[in-house]
Amino acid sequence: MEDIHKILKRHWGYDSFRPLQEEIIRSVISGHDTLGLMPTGGGKSIVFQVAGMALGNLTVVVSPLISLMKDQVDNLKRHGIKAVYFHSAMTPVENRVAWETLVNGRARFLYCAPERLSSERFLSELRALHPTLLVVDEAHCISQWGYDFRPSFLNIKNLRKILPGVNVLALTATATPDVARDIRRQLAFAAGNNTFQMSFTRHNISYLVKSSDVKIDDCGKILHRTTGSAIVYVRNRKRTREIAEYLLSIGISATFYHAGLEYEEKEKRQNEWKAGGIRVMVATNAFGMGIDKPDVRTVVHYDMPPSLEEYYQEAGRAGRDGEPSFAILLYTRRDKSTLRRNISKEFPDKKVVARIYERVANFLGMAIGEGYGKVYPFDIDAFVRTFRESHDTVVASLRLLTRAGYMEYIDERENSSRVLIRMTRQELYDVAGLSAEAERVLGKMLRLYPGLFMDYVYINELRIGRELQVDTEVVYKALLELSRFKVIYYVPRSRMPYVYMPTSREEPKYIQIPRSVYEERLARLEERIEAMIDYASDASGCRVRRMLAYFGEPDPHDCRRCDVCRKASVASGKAANKPSTLARRIAIFFDAHPGGVNPRIFEAEFSDEAEKAMGLLKMMLHEGMLEYSGNMIRKKR
Ligand code: ADP
Ligand code: MG
Repeated sequence: MEDIHKILKRHWGYDSFRPLQEEIIRSVISGHDTLGLMPTGGGKSIVFQVAGMALGNLTVVVSPLISLMKDQVDNLKRHGIKAVYFHSAMTPVENRVAWETLVNGRARFLYCAPERLSSERFLSELRALHPTLLVVDEAHCISQWGYDFRPSFLNIKNLRKILPGVNVLALTATATPDVARDIRRQLAFAAGNNTFQMSFTRHNISYLVKSSDVKIDDCGKILHRTTGSAIVYVRNRKRTREIAEYLLSIGISATFYHAGLEYEEKEKRQNEWKAGGIRVMVATNAFGMGIDKPDVRTVVHYDMPPSLEEYYQEAGRAGRDGEPSFAILLYTRRDKSTLRRNISKEFPDKKVVARIYERVANFLGMAIGEGYGKVYPFDIDAFVRTFRESHDTVVASLRLLTRAGYMEYIDERENSSRVLIRMTRQELYDVAGLSAEAERVLGKMLRLYPGLFMDYVYINELRIGRELQVDTEVVYKALLELSRFKVIYYVPRSRMPYVYMPTSREEPKYIQIPRSVYEERLARLEERIEAMIDYASDASGCRVRRMLAYFGEPDPHDCRRCDVCRKASVASGKAANKPSTLARRIAIFFDAHPGGVNPRIFEAEFSDEAEKAMGLLKMMLHEGMLEYSGNMIRKKR
């Protein structure tokens, strides 16, 4: 087997592994089923990619999000590694092209959406490829106990069965001890399996809760008082815009982001923010996945997320570079009832859910007994209009139906259109009868996008139009013409969600939403909300310590940085106006050495209470009472 350091260096150019990466890789390549818990940004992708390269042949990666799969496949290609992906919204031709790349092109990684694993045929084709490793990314999605359970992840069990000797590597950023146990059970981990958990502690982040009745005002103040890039998370699309506008009005550079924006617009704003041209991004939780900007200094939560898992993930986007950063939660008592109300919206009455099932099936023109394994584009807006249902209720019902396994609702809209040329270069010259526009569009595409003859390539109608100085509409018509002439396959980007049918349409009386999907899940969501509310409202102890205990971290310590710890240290400083306390001793010590003291001398002086003294010292430096320069610590004048 090739040395894993060499693989890392050759393909990614990195000299060393990050904490735990090497341990996890070694565990799985030496034949143990392995679970790796690493925080967001910890480097999970490289873990399974290096492991897969070391084991050779083919690695199958199950991953929940189409957009993440695409990113990773493109990324691997850039590092000189062939990879393909399969999800259920691909066209037959796309499928064929992917299989060809896989078999003839010897791809090393096959990314696959979990719903594909319900097909016997797909499974047996996979088996014939003799994969050497099975990776489950975002593995918490397999657990009912996790905050993001996806029933189609249970299909991975089928894959496990048909690939007996193949080890599994499961990775996730957030798993409580219960969820970790459940992942190992669901994935049928064999004896001798290993779990590696990286500490969830982020030493450079100060977690603060600010009780706030006028949040907009506090938000502005916080951003005035801090410097550097920031994200403000809100749980409502409309508010993202309003808050961004307010920030602009008080002189803070800001923009907003949510899932409803056009793809180009999202890209543009994200890039500007990433490059530092815009300081603050006001966003819903749609923003952040896969974005690794290292120098985010402040993450403000305007609204509380419904779980600590989500809070930790989002707040954790601060300070990836290890520099001091802030995660600030604005909290008002009303937040509790808002959260509870939002939850009840996610659980429409079961009768309503059954009604929506009927209506959606009718709307899609699916008879009873039909639909099995099919994907339907689903125009949810038209549906809502036709049946006068509320949009939120429809989405909530579809999510429940997804979990119950009756119809899967996939709201991942294709970002760009795709094109593949169906002819050889020679044949292209012989096509007759094309309009002048079609000719020009084809010519422009050939220049703009290499690789059109081999595989589907993402194109941008807007850009082609700009380059040719014609309307997007003209480009669009030309593309349709080219596809009528069988010159290209053209998959216009879709603005619609999909419905995927894991079973055929049932009669209404058979639609049962099980307790595990409804009552039990509701209870768990409520528990998670309570944990989140506790975090915000209970100031009786270190906030981070409580959060880490929730994540199952053994023996967490007080962080000394959260608002509770800060207050405690200020209070002890005050109570300590008697010279006997340590804080007072330190203050007197520095008064006595106005020119400053070397840290070693300090350590020696306070060796009787070394740990406490170092903690206080850091706090005093942090708070600006002391300063450190030229290798000396002194009182600030
Ligand atoms: P995760 O999936 O755990 O959230 P990623 O796999 O996306 O994290 O990795 C985050 C970033 O860290 C990526 O930009 C990746 O290139 C970088 N990275 C991962 N491992 C290393 C390493 N050993 N050395 C340097 N950078 C690394
Ligand atoms: Mg990842």
